[in-house]
Amino acid sequence: MTLSGKTALITGGTRGIGLAIAKKFAEHGAKLVLLAAHGGERAEAAVSELQKIGAEVGFYVCDVSDAAQVSETVTKVLADFGTVDILVNNAGITRDNLLPSLDTVDIDDVIDINLKGTIFMTQALIRTFVKKRSGVIINLSSVVGMMGNKGQTNYAASKAGVIGFTKSVAKEYGRRNIRCNAIAPGYIATDMTAALSEEMTAELTKQLPIGRLGQPEDVANLALFLAGDCAGYITGEVIKVDGGMYI
Ligand code: NDP
Repeated sequence: MTLSGKTALITGGTRGIGLAIAKKFAEHGAKLVLLAAHGGERAEAAVSELQKIGAEVGFYVCDVSDAAQVSETVTKVLADFGTVDILVNNAGITRDNLLPSLDTVDIDDVIDINLKGTIFMTQALIRTFVKKRSGVIINLSSVVGMMGNKGQTNYAASKAGVIGFTKSVAKEYGRRNIRCNAIAPGYIATDMTAALSEEMTAELTKQLPIGRLGQPEDVANLALFLAGDCAGYITGEVIKVDGGMYI
C-alpha cells in the first residue's frame, strides 16, 4: 500500500487522530499539508516529527469554520504544492452539556467547526478533484453520530450531519472518480477524551468487547486503507473503529 506521489491535506493534523493519520500517510510516502487552528510549538513539533520520517510537510493556520479563510488557505496550498489528492476532514471539537444548559455558542461552534468546516474544505477542493478526475475524501464522523449520546446533542447532530454530507458527496462525484467515505471512531485516547475521569474510562472500557480504549493509530490504519487504491470501489461508506462499542 503506497501513497507515493500523493499529497494529503489533513485538517487538525497537528495532534491526536489527525497527527496519527499524518504519520501513517508519511510512512507510506505521501506529502503532507497540515491545517490547524493554532500554530506555535505544538505545530512545529508535529512538522519536525513528520520531517524526521522523511516527509515533505507544509503547515497552515486555518480556522475551518471560516469559509473565506478556507478558500484563501486552499489557494495558497495549491500554489505551494501544485495539487491535493487526498482530503482528510478531521478537525473537530466537543462542547458537551445537557440540552437545557447548552449555550448558543456551544451549538454554533460545534456545528460550525465539525459540520460546516467539513463542507467548506470539501467545497474548496472539489473543483481541483473534478478537473483531474480523481480525489479521495475522508471525513471524521463518530459512533455518537450514529447512536446518539446524552450530553452530546450538539456534537451528535454535527457528526450525523457529516454522514449525510459524506453520502451525498459520494453520489454527486462518484462518476468523476472521487470517493468520499466517513470514519466513525468510538472512544480514542486523545486530548478530546482526556477530560474523562479514570472511573469513567474504566467503566467505558468494561463495556467494550475489545476491552481497551482505541489509539489514534487504530483510526489511522483505516484512513490509510481508505486513502489508497485498495479501497478503489468503496464510496459513501461509514466505517466504525470502535472496539465493538456500537454493534
Ligand atoms: P483533538 O482534540 O485531539 O484535536 C482536534 C484537532 O482539531 C486539533 O488539531 C485542532 O487544532 C483542530 N481544530 C479544532 N478546531 C479547529 C478549527 N476551527 N479549525 C481548524 N482546526 C481545528 O481531537 P481528536 O484527535 O480526538 O479528534 C479528531 C477528530 O475525530 C474530530 O473530528 C473528532 O470529533 C473525531 N472523533 C474523535 C473521537 C475520540 O474519541 N477522540 C471519537 C470520535 C470522533 P489545534 O491543535 O490548533 O487546536
